[in-house]
Formats: sequence, C-alpha cells, structure tokens
Amino acid sequence: MKTINIHIKGLVQGVGFRPFIYRIAARNGITGWVDNRNDGVYICAQGDVEKIEAFVQSIKKEAPLASKIVSMNISDVDAENFTEFTIVKSKNTSDAITDVSPDIAVCPDCLADMKVQKNRINYPFINCTNCGPRFTIIKDLPYDREKTTMLPFVMCDDCRKEYTDILDRRFHAQPVACEVCGPSYILHDNKSEITDFKSILNHTANLFNEGKIVAIKGIGGYFIACDASNEHAVNRLRKNKIRESKPFAVMFRNIEKVKEYTFVSQTEQEQISSWQRPIILLKKKKDFAQSVCLGFNTIGCMLPYMPVHYLLFEKLRTDAIVLTSGNISDEPIVIDDKTAREKLGKICDAVLSYNREIYNRTDDSVVFAVNDKPRLIRRSRGFVPGPFTFNFSVDGIIATGAELVNCFCVGKDHQAIMSQHIGDLKNMETLEFFSESLERFKKLFRVEPKVMVCDLHPDYLSTRYAKETGLKIIEVQHHHAHIASCMAEHGLDEKVIGVAMDGTGLGDDGNIWGAEFMVCDYENYQRKTHFEYIPMPGGDKAAKESWRMGVSFLYKAYGQDFLKKDIPFVKQLDHEKTALLLQAIDKKINCPLSSSAGRLFDAVSAIINLCTHADFHAEAPMRLEAIIEPGVKEKYNYEVADDISFIKTIKEIVADLEKKIPIGIISAKFHNTIITVIIETAEKIRKESGINKICLSGGTFQNRYLLENVEKELNKLHFEVYSNEQVPSNDGGIALGQMVVGKNSIY
Ligand code: ZN
Ligand code: FE
Repeated sequence: MKTINIHIKGLVQGVGFRPFIYRIAARNGITGWVDNRNDGVYICAQGDVEKIEAFVQSIKKEAPLASKIVSMNISDVDAENFTEFTIVKSKNTSDAITDVSPDIAVCPDCLADMKVQKNRINYPFINCTNCGPRFTIIKDLPYDREKTTMLPFVMCDDCRKEYTDILDRRFHAQPVACEVCGPSYILHDNKSEITDFKSILNHTANLFNEGKIVAIKGIGGYFIACDASNEHAVNRLRKNKIRESKPFAVMFRNIEKVKEYTFVSQTEQEQISSWQRPIILLKKKKDFAQSVCLGFNTIGCMLPYMPVHYLLFEKLRTDAIVLTSGNISDEPIVIDDKTAREKLGKICDAVLSYNREIYNRTDDSVVFAVNDKPRLIRRSRGFVPGPFTFNFSVDGIIATGAELVNCFCVGKDHQAIMSQHIGDLKNMETLEFFSESLERFKKLFRVEPKVMVCDLHPDYLSTRYAKETGLKIIEVQHHHAHIASCMAEHGLDEKVIGVAMDGTGLGDDGNIWGAEFMVCDYENYQRKTHFEYIPMPGGDKAAKESWRMGVSFLYKAYGQDFLKKDIPFVKQLDHEKTALLLQAIDKKINCPLSSSAGRLFDAVSAIINLCTHADFHAEAPMRLEAIIEPGVKEKYNYEVADDISFIKTIKEIVADLEKKIPIGIISAKFHNTIITVIIETAEKIRKESGINKICLSGGTFQNRYLLENVEKELNKLHFEVYSNEQVPSNDGGIALGQMVVGKNSIY
C-alpha cells in the first residue's frame, strides 16, 4: 500500500478534470480525494504500488481534450486509510492561481444529447465538462458557478442531479442548464419580441432565407450575419456597416462545404475543426456572393461552434453565412444587450439575443497556416487566457502592448497571460475596454503590479496608460519587442538574428522604423541594418493614403521628372495635392523618415495603380499579395550600402510598367526581391556574428508568400528558423515580447 500527493498545474479547471480523475481512480481501485484550488488540482491517491503507477500514467495519457498539464509534482505521504475516492469542494487557499480555460466549442456528445435528452431537445445552451463557455462568463477564481454569469440561473433538480453525480458527463460543469432552468433566447425585430425558441429559429431562418441581416449574440460578443450567397444581402450589410471592401468571414454548414468552396490542407482541416474553432484563412476555390471577399483570393472560414449555429443551419437554405463582428467601425464588439438593440438594431433587421451576460468580451480568433504550421493572427476566443510559461518569474510585470492592434499581457509567477484582442486604442470605447480588461486580469489572476512595460512611443495610449500608473516604467523598442515575442514563445533566451518586417514603430533615433535587421537577446538589441529611410509625407496619414508613399519613392528616384512618366498612377494624380506633397517633402513638414517595410509595400501597390487609398488597415499590401502571378522567379535589383535601398527596384518597376508588363508579374518580382534581400542580409549577419538562430516577426510576415518563401530559403541554408505561431506577428503579439524584455531589464 502506498499513498501519494499529486499537485497538477496547468489548464485543469473547467475542463472536466476532477470527474476525469475520479473515473480513473475508480477504474484503478484508488482511494483518496481530489481537490480544486486556485493554483491547480491536488490529488491524494492511495493503493497498491502498481495501481498507483497505472493511475499516474492514466492522468498523463488520457487527460481531457481541452486540458493541459504543465507540471505534475508527486510526493510520498503518510496518510490514514481511505475507504473511497471523493471530490472535495473547491476552496480559495491562496493568491496562487491555475489556468482559466478558454471557451470551448460545443462537443459531439452534447450535439447528440441535444436530439434526445429530456428538457434539452434543441436546447441551445447545452454543455458539459468538455465544452461550453468558460472565460467569457468567468468573473473570479476558483472556477465555480457562483463566480460566473450563470449565477442568476438556479439549477433545477434534474440539472443539479447531473451536476452532483460524479459519474455524469456534467459533473461540476458550471454552465450546466436545461430549458427548465437555464438561459433562453429572445428575438427582437422592429415590430415584436419572440421568446418561444422554436418560433425564434423558424423566424430567424426565414430572415436569412429572405436575405435579411441579423445580429446574433455569440459566446464573446455580438456578430452580424446574413446569407453569404445572397449578393444583395451582403452588399446591404457592407453599406449598413460602412465597410466598403474588407473581406467578410464566413461560417460554413460543415467541413464538406468548406472543401467545396476552398482548398483545405490536413493542417487547416485540423485547425478549423479544433475545439477552439477559429476563423482560418483559406484559398478560395469558388465564390458565393462576389461581394463577400471583393477581389481577394483568400477567405476567412469557420465552422459552427455554438448549438444555435447548428440548429440554424438545419433550417437554412444556404450553406454559408457571413458572420462578422457586431461593432460600429472601430469600436469593440458589442456585448451588452441594450447596446445591441440600440446600435446594431439600426443596421440589422433583427437582433437574436439571450439572457446570460457576457462578462469577458472575445472576438473570433484568426489563424492562417504557412509551411504547414498554423499561426494565430488574432488571438481571442478559444485561446485566451491560455498562459505562456517561462523558466523565470515575470510576477507583477504588466506589458501594455502597442496601440493599433492592442493586446496586453500580465505576469503571474512564471506565467505571462496575454489578453484577448483589444483593438485600436485611439477609439475611446476600445480604450475603455483596454483599461477595464486590464483591471479584470489583475483581479482574476491575482496580479500585484510592480513594473509597467510599454512601447518606446510616448504618444501610444498604451504607453500613456502605463506612465499614469506611477509605477516603475520600462520602455521597449517596438521591433525588439516583435522579435522578443517570437523568442519568448519558442523559449529562446539567447542571442538571435532578428528580422522585423513591419508597419511602423518608433526607433531609438527618433525615426519611424519598420524593416529592421538586428542581433538581439531578451536584454538588448543591436540594429545591424535596415531599409533606407524615406520621407513619409503626412505621417500616419501615409499608411491610409498609399499614394503618398508612391509619390515619395518616385520623387526620391527621379526628382520632379517622375511627373513626366507615362504610367497610370502618375497620370491619375491630383496635381494640386501632389504639388503640396512635394513641397512638404522638400521643406520636411510633417514628413518623418521611415524605414518601414509596410510603407514600401504601400508604395509599390500605389505605383502599379492597384491601391492608392486603403479602406482598411494594410489593404494596399494585401492587394499586392493577392495579385502575385504564381511561378514567376525573376526579381529586381536593389542596392546595399549602410542601409538597403530600393530606388533601383522602383525604377525597374516603372520601366516594367512602361513596357506594359502585367502587374501580377511585377508584384511577384517585387516580392521575390524582398525575399532575396532578407536572405542575403541574414547570411551576412550570420557570417559576422556566428549566430544561426533567426527570428522572423512583424506584421508584414502576415504576407503568406513572403513568410512561406523566406522560411523555405532560410531552411535551405540551414538556418534555425523561428516565427510567431502562438501570438500574432503583428502588434497583437508585442506585449509578450515587452514582457520578457521588461523582465530582463529589471533584474
Ligand atoms: Zn458537451
Ligand atoms: Fe509592429
């Protein structure tokens, strides 16, 4: 006979871990107890030596799908004789914490139950210990029903029986509910309110079938939906939402339909079907309504993840619906029912809502797969608040992230916990969402802030927020943070070559950086080289109005003579505006110098007259990527001195335009040029420094062609190549990098 204590840390709460332990204890003839505490699950197990061994092995091998064991400490103890195995009621023992589960898509068992189970036939809030909302409804730890927005729903006797029956799939499933006691849907249209769920489903399905627009309350916020095959409906949605050209994400009925419309690799299929159910960017095979993705060859696809999605598709004629964030322009997605009726009610024909509060807002996460590796480009529902664990403490450090695509990060013990996607802080509502979420993270994860880490840019609202706390401040250069985010997720606490291809970030010389080659570790960076500085007329405005960068590059290349060039871009220029722009460049008025890769891509997109004004963030580079002619191997020339100049490249592009070379070929040649520059520069730095590990980060690496080929070429040259997978390579990942750099500058 032997007795051991096991302390398991990781994602072990809210994922059916204790019932799982109970079941394998029963199977292996183990007695003792299991207990849920803030800092993980504690088990006391008693039994024969072999049985104990088998029990421990089962924990490791059979743990529930959504759980994640980070550490398992086992110690021998002397103990009384137990006669049975029991689950001890949760207690709040310390300020230590364990992981909070992200939200989990409804599981196949629950979908099956939904067709047969008493009080749960077509009941859209069905869930179990393996599925259902988690992070979005949790207010505090430990994860118990009273600490969630399920609090107002008092369990009926049937639900309570399942909740307390240790062998039931719903044992301690905190959101357990049925139609007798649980939340319910309500449909508001302009005229009436419908509360009978069967009528709601029929009515909503009719609205879709008639081409109407419906706001639907999701897991982490409201979404706006319509039939993706109805051109008129999609166009109306674009108009109502004032979203001219940004592609919409689409939810398909099932994986077969995804495959009918898009190309899906094995990795992509695994991602789209995973319990996180992210949006995944897939290459289009055929269109539904043309206005869904307007000229782009990829489409954001997802599968149903809430019971109501499945129930709706049973009634819909279409195989795909547009499902886009329920917000007005740059505001965060709506989570509050009243706001939904007021704001979204105006642009939708009906609002489908339910009476359980969403506490933590999460948007859909977005993934794309390159070189067969999935990479998050928006990290939210299904992933947050999954932590990053280090072998050093980051306790009490808060990193406030960047500004445009903000996520923040809090440090607790050895874990960094990234927030959900917050958005553009320049929007007032988004800034409120930022500070509210930061307060909630501090409370939920018991973080006692000691140090604030922020971007070097003094005007970022995230920087100002950090400084207003009055705590110790550490400023981290934007691109160092990008590279460090990649190092951190791969555990690279050493010197690496960093290649940041990015939009903009403030450099330590006061210029705007954005194509940086560095050698760095967590502590420091050394800028080795960069793209040539070019005036960015109008500052931030240049990112939206790509024609400004087009003119700036052409002016640098040809002087005034560029105006004589016989190319469509020059011919369509507004003479007055252009003259003013050139004056501003000459007199250096609001023309910061920039080495940004993003701005170079903007310039090329403008010069080939593809995108001169961006309707949404990064539209110009995205369109440039979308038109790449496959199979083109040629590239342009460029010049290397102290920095890397593309003036020659621009001249060759203009020459190609004059020769009427198709812009798809020009785009391919331009991309190939950038790839070559990165490879050659990396080689040079490797030779100099003897470093073989290379980290790629920055928003420009969301360009599939670029990332795919840079990785392939670097691999061929036997570099050890790392890129962002778990956090976005865009500014949404920066806070993780700030966290590790901040930590290493303190101690
Ligand atoms: Zn379930
Ligand atoms: Fe950036």
